[in-house]
Amino acid sequence: MTVPNLTLNDGVEMPALGFGVFLVPDVDAEGAVLQALEKGYRHIDTAAAYENEAGVGRAIARSGIAREDIFVTTKLWIQDAGETHALDAFERSRVRLGVEQVDLLLIHQPFGDYYGTWRAMEDLYRRGQVRAIGVSNFYPDRLVDLIDHNEIVPAVNQIETHPFFQRSADQAVMRSRGVQLESWGPLGQGREDLFTNPILTEIAQTHEKTVAQVVLRWLLQREIAVIPKTVNPARMAENLDVFDFVIADDEMARIATLDTGASTAFNHHDPSSASMLGTTRFDT
Ligand code: NDP
Repeated sequence: MTVPNLTLNDGVEMPALGFGVFLVPDVDAEGAVLQALEKGYRHIDTAAAYENEAGVGRAIARSGIAREDIFVTTKLWIQDAGETHALDAFERSRVRLGVEQVDLLLIHQPFGDYYGTWRAMEDLYRRGQVRAIGVSNFYPDRLVDLIDHNEIVPAVNQIETHPFFQRSADQAVMRSRGVQLESWGPLGQGREDLFTNPILTEIAQTHEKTVAQVVLRWLLQREIAVIPKTVNPARMAENLDVFDFVIADDEMARIATLDTGASTAFNHHDPSSASMLGTTRFDT
């Protein structure tokens, strides 16, 4: 199974489909990532806040796969924002992952002193300790402001994107600025109403595929990177098997009607949510 690459704005090639490990406890992460690598995944998405970087690192080490053949993303949490804190936090992540270089480093959330964090990440990029730098959960206004007042344009913005929250206008802004959209929660974080949706189910039946495969394929056809998470080996294979069919234009148009324009997970504009996230601490 060959996963195509997307070329980021700094020339780095990133597999368009990767494996997410949010909510996978560290003790399980090693086994899950090893299985994913065996199935053919070559792009792993973790974060300091997931507290499973060490497990991901053990899997990479044990896999026997050459380091340069695995694309590893991690993210800096809010409590580590600011120039000095971010450099220290990156070093802890790098050591936990057991790698010399991280492929993609993201600001996890647009809260706290993320301008200071970005300057630290620009330094890490110039020193070659990361191959690409980007952000996550940035709405277009914050993204454009960060771009206009710094030197390096984020390579990626990882944001919630799925059939119920499609982000087309946000994607247009990112395209105009050379920022790759990467979907988190591509499967709606396992929401039942996604897997039983009549439109998605009908399209899946037409192609003899599952709803999960249709959704991942739909995102990929929109040139959006995807990082579905599963701890189930059969689903790992299922989520990777999306390169042998094409969703037709009329089917793409039908899926477009499912957009609600709103998050199904988290409202970044709600002050109490911003405060809640900003004060949540992890063992980073
Ligand atoms: P996903 O949309 O990937 O959904 C994961 C859920 O779907 C799990 O409950 C999983 O269950 C289930 N699932 C996976 N594959 C299938 C399938 N083929 N059929 C039926 N159910 C399936 O949600 P995530 O929130 O995990 O998002 C993906 C990744 O994005 C994360 O793991 C993380 O790396 C990243 N992320 C980033 C965020 C950010 O703020 N930057 C926020 C959230 C996620 P099971 O494991 O039991 O199979």
